[in-house]
Amino acid sequence: MQNEIHLQSRTRLQDYEPIVGRSCLEELRILSEKFSGKVIQIINSTSIGGGVAEILEHMVPLLNQLGVDVRWNVINGSDEFFEVTKKFHNALHGKRERILTRDFDLFSEVTERNLKEMSFYGDILFVHDPQPVGLIAKKKEIGRKWLWRCHIDVSSPDKKVWSFLRRFIVDYDAAVFSAPNFAQQLPIRQFLVTPSIDPLSDKNKELDSGTIDAVLAKYGLISDKPMITQVSRFDRLKDPLGVIEAFEMVKKNIDCQLVLAGGTATDDPESEEVLEEVRKRAEENPDVHVLLVPPESDVDINALQQAATVIIQKSLKEGFGLTISEALWKAKPVVASAVGGIPLQVKNKFTGLLCYTVEGAAYALKQLLSNPEYASQLGQNGKEHVKQNFLITGHLKNYLLMFLALDQMSEVVHF
Ligand code: UDP
Repeated sequence: MQNEIHLQSRTRLQDYEPIVGRSCLEELRILSEKFSGKVIQIINSTSIGGGVAEILEHMVPLLNQLGVDVRWNVINGSDEFFEVTKKFHNALHGKRERILTRDFDLFSEVTERNLKEMSFYGDILFVHDPQPVGLIAKKKEIGRKWLWRCHIDVSSPDKKVWSFLRRFIVDYDAAVFSAPNFAQQLPIRQFLVTPSIDPLSDKNKELDSGTIDAVLAKYGLISDKPMITQVSRFDRLKDPLGVIEAFEMVKKNIDCQLVLAGGTATDDPESEEVLEEVRKRAEENPDVHVLLVPPESDVDINALQQAATVIIQKSLKEGFGLTISEALWKAKPVVASAVGGIPLQVKNKFTGLLCYTVEGAAYALKQLLSNPEYASQLGQNGKEHVKQNFLITGHLKNYLLMFLALDQMSEVVHF
């Protein structure tokens, strides 16, 4: 099948039992039986980079193991198209962007092309984020159940972009948001499902100290001083320059180093430019390490997170912010901005520290670096919070229940 992403299962369902318990897996098995003979077709815009690809990569093979026929397709888009959709992404987050009529036209042209080139074979079509949202036009011809999954905080979007996208969204059977405060008023059914991390993935499994040291050596890092780390695509909304500023304030009182580790995503054309800006800014300070991490370097990211003394996520806007759950699962103390889905994960002074400004971030970092016991307690609480709320098994259950509700929306429900 054209543009179909094929994934190998790297973990077995039963391996999750020691973490989440037998009954949780039993529930998943019972729910999965309801999908016999049905196909769920996932459509998004990239299979590499960013949180959406990260989740799908682990979720699709697990659903397949459960016997659910889930297949994943990626749309075709040109560089210009992804420049437009990146502007949409920023504008939906409330950032000012100059969006022209020809940008909307290009979006529509690429949508038309994908409508012609792609196959739509699912009983449920599960479309992620704005890039492929226009594919809903196919529903008039083929029917079926269509679900739009929004990973963005669209609580205060640019009106022009939102009203353009809304015309497509209202034709879906339902929309899915990560949290109530991300959502918009819509005349269709809405589901709220928080994202998750896979505790057994290369990104999150426990690593031995030899592996961690080897990764540090590979990136030229020495763990001779406390390490503050931010893992993020090089994106202005992740505020890498703000992180450096906060770090410099901390550094006046505490000897430490900063690691800014990130890569690029195929649907994010801005990242090269941002990386250059960050590198330039970091040149002046030998304790700031800017690491370009190649795609699919999950063990490297894991090791960098595990090696951190404190993890920071100083985003200006955020979707859910998977990096937070990743850090907390490793029992790391976290300093993070109170934006998007971060407050769902960081309960201030219980599972980490929230910040609102560069100065606030610096103050919180100092607090954690100078009080290791407090930092460790926050990290432990954070791990438990993630275990209860943000693991992939719970996420799968919520999705299966949602598919079931959608599949039977106009039918009699047989449980
Ligand atoms: N990530 C990665 N390599 C990088 C930068 C980020 O693997 O160089 C991962 C990160 O560990 C997380 C995801 O990409 O799993 C980012 O998801 P998040 O929700 O934090 O942010 P998004 O990129 O979707 O805005």
